[in-house]
Amino acid sequence: MQDLTEGVAQFQRDVYPAKAGLFAHLATTHRPSTLFISCSDARVVPELITQSEPGELFVIRTAGNLVPAHTPGPDGVSASIEYAVSVLGVSDIVVCGHSACGAMTALAEQHDLSGAPAIADWLRHADASLARTAAEAGAQKVDALVRENVLAQLANLATHPSVARALAAHAVTLRGWVYDIPTGVVEELDTTGRPAALAV
Ligand code: ZN
Repeated sequence: MQDLTEGVAQFQRDVYPAKAGLFAHLATTHRPSTLFISCSDARVVPELITQSEPGELFVIRTAGNLVPAHTPGPDGVSASIEYAVSVLGVSDIVVCGHSACGAMTALAEQHDLSGAPAIADWLRHADASLARTAAEAGAQKVDALVRENVLAQLANLATHPSVARALAAHAVTLRGWVYDIPTGVVEELDTTGRPAALAV
């Protein structure tokens, strides 16, 4: 905790004054361009890997970067998606998976999750991804599942009415990324799941 309080002190002393104009603008303006959906994994830092400033990314982070398909009823992920798309009007949505994802590893290696029922239930949202990688084995299975899972969550996103409406109006673009922790490489997936270098 001391690290955090020292970090806050450093932010207020060094970082905030250097960006005072930006923060003054953001005090009354919230117009992010991108809804960025990533895993909760501490090693994945959306603003760092995209070099985004405060105010640019509307971020949702879930275990395994899972986006449940739309269902009626209260759902925090759905509410955040709707707010980003319908109210804030983001033009891009990125679902970003990553290497060595604990959630995808647990599924690929069939870890015993009987002592973690909430995790087990949540990871059911990756059932379709898991089914598509049934033929894979070993370390490749985790990598394949990470990619299939990103594509599956893009499909799930499109079931949300706010996203479906924006897609129909050509007002939003969906992108699937995979971040590789040991190299820093970010791949953009095409719709068939093959990796392609991220256009820079
Ligand atoms: Zn993860």
